Amino acid sequence: MIYIDVILPLALPRLFTYIVPKELKDDIIVGQRVLVQFGKKKIYSAVVAKIHSISPDVYEAKYILDILDATPLLDAIQLKLIHWLSEYYMCTQGEILKYAIPAGLRLSSESNISLNKNAIISTEGIDEREILILNQLYKTESLSFEDVEKLLGKKNIHKYIKSLLSREYIVLYEQISEKYIPKKTTKIKLHQNYQDESKINLLLHELEKNPKQSDFLMAFIHESKGKLATNLEKSIFTKNKRLSPSSFKTLLKNGVFEEYFEIVSRFPEQNLELNSKAILSQLQQEAYESILNTFSSKNTVLLHGITGSGKTEIYIELIQEVLNQGQQVLYLVPEIALTVQLVNRLKFYLGDKVGIYHSRYSDNERVEVWEGIINQRFKIVLGVRSSIFLPFKNLGLIIVDEEHDSSYKQQDPNPRFNARDVSIVLANLHQAKVVLGSATPSLESYDNALHGNYGLVELKERYGNAQIPEIKLIDIQKATKTKSIRGIFTNELILELKECILKGEQAIFFQNRRGYSPFISCELCNFTPKCTQCDVSLTLHQFTNELRCHYCGYRTKPPSNCNACGSAKMATVGYGTEKIAEELELLFPDVKIERMDLETTRNKGSFERIISDFETKQTQILVGTQMVTKGLDFENVTLVGIINADNMLNFPDFRAHERAFQMMMQVAGRAGRKTKKGKVLVQTYNTHHLVLEFLLQQDYYSFYLN
Ligand code: ADP
Ligand code: ZN
Ligand code: ZN
Repeated sequence: MIYIDVILPLALPRLFTYIVPKELKDDIIVGQRVLVQFGKKKIYSAVVAKIHSISPDVYEAKYILDILDATPLLDAIQLKLIHWLSEYYMCTQGEILKYAIPAGLRLSSESNISLNKNAIISTEGIDEREILILNQLYKTESLSFEDVEKLLGKKNIHKYIKSLLSREYIVLYEQISEKYIPKKTTKIKLHQNYQDESKINLLLHELEKNPKQSDFLMAFIHESKGKLATNLEKSIFTKNKRLSPSSFKTLLKNGVFEEYFEIVSRFPEQNLELNSKAILSQLQQEAYESILNTFSSKNTVLLHGITGSGKTEIYIELIQEVLNQGQQVLYLVPEIALTVQLVNRLKFYLGDKVGIYHSRYSDNERVEVWEGIINQRFKIVLGVRSSIFLPFKNLGLIIVDEEHDSSYKQQDPNPRFNARDVSIVLANLHQAKVVLGSATPSLESYDNALHGNYGLVELKERYGNAQIPEIKLIDIQKATKTKSIRGIFTNELILELKECILKGEQAIFFQNRRGYSPFISCELCNFTPKCTQCDVSLTLHQFTNELRCHYCGYRTKPPSNCNACGSAKMATVGYGTEKIAEELELLFPDVKIERMDLETTRNKGSFERIISDFETKQTQILVGTQMVTKGLDFENVTLVGIINADNMLNFPDFRAHERAFQMMMQVAGRAGRKTKKGKVLVQTYNTHHLVLEFLLQQDYYSFYLN
């Protein structure tokens, strides 16, 4: 007997064992999806993890219903990775499977049946209950298993369904999970009888009294560029307002044209012209060579290069090297916004080989990227954390850009993993190399590098003549006393912004989204109530009017007077990007201001539009959350405003200081990246905060030491 252990797409602690029926035993392969029944009536597609001959001792194994793939969906490396994750992050393989596979390939819901349209059905010799099912299917098109139970008035219906399935009278499909649907395009061509010049001339002659039809025909001849046997997209003609749709219908009916569907890629090849690579500066070249050298003794290298030092160009050089060896590359970024700019930079040098993968893609698009990697259409994948599960065949290099970024960590739901750490494991499985890149490495990675677990390569200057930006703190407390602050903005910040706008340059204003979770603080001495046990700032819950600790749950009523200085001026702090953009619009009614945050980027294509409007200078001020801090490269940005540093520093999290430093260094790094010098203004109550001092010095190393 052949048994298989399968991963069901459910949170089950153990694999489940099934029997492979004799007729399927030669076809079963590890990594394939099989159709199984689990529980009373649910049918799932599960993945084969192991083939063996041991029957389970506590339950009686059932037979699998079918094998879904000819070639396995997951290969040995992917299965190993899933297994490793489940142990390391203490979650089930099923949960990972569910997350890892595009929903279009998943089939994990309740199963339905419908008639097989191609079957010739004969009711001879089949059970009358099966006839009942078939009759009902004629009427309703589809039935869930539950429907069938009701219809037959009994529970054990599988016998009948299996029988109908084996006769191929019905087909089984999953209802909730949207199955992959290929994209189709409609094409038209001339009927064979008209694919020659003399016949067309004859036809045109016949159509003399039908100018609309001959117009259409002429348009086709024009588009076909003399090749009458060609086929063309129908949309070319439907878009043309001068052509009459009804005359096309007539031509179709009269057999002049033929219409048919063709399956097309959602990522059509653009046949881009490839540009020769950028020439690395001396420093970049040294860093590049140093990375390659380090790879001979270490699998992971931390590239610590300041913002604007040109890390991306080094990555591109490394990618080329790996592609030349015939291997694939995974390029991880923390945020979708980053893929938008980077994909253009990558395609500029590497063309159509670049695939993108992120959560904004539809299930169908994700399936096509998945398949594009298997069939080698995509040699490089630029993607966010979920890309680590893609079916790479021979990965040579993983780049983790902005490796410090907290978006690499999936918080909720399971699997809770950090894609940076997993990528090191994945690289190991492929015997590939990893480059972790950042201007502000995570403390763990830096530590690993200093202790020799990773190689360390540094780049301490910006590319070209670009200088590092000047960072300046603005004391909100002082501004309040001298009445040089109005609402959110200090006069100093507004003056600088005015100047920047007058010069035709651009500005980025940054407000931490999490800063929106409000806390209270004294307007005079800036005291913020903290948790007595955890030493983190308490968050104000306006609804219940209480202060809460997000760590231990401690709660208390907000004090009416400051605990420190006794003043009654306790204010709620924390305003979002929306408010900032609104206020800026009042101050600068003629300037185009745009917001980039969770709310404004919900729609498909919104990232692309916001970024391209800012790139082409149609927008002059960009207000955003951490999305604007990461890796973006705009040459005309000379001013960066950090509206409130304190809510980052006070954020209730033990990593608040690390995050705050990284975020501010990163957003500062958006300023003055090319020829123009950048300026960064940081509004704060707390000009003496140690983190801000390191920020002023732009000194990562001292920050690390502390
Ligand atoms: P980082 O990722 O280190 O912040 P980038 O790679 O974005 O920096 O580089 C900053 C800017 O300098 C980009 O606009 C990039 O095009 C430019 N640049 C970097 N290296 C080169 C090079 N070798 N040749 C031409 N331009 C470069
Ligand atoms: Zn607490
Ligand atoms: Zn006070």
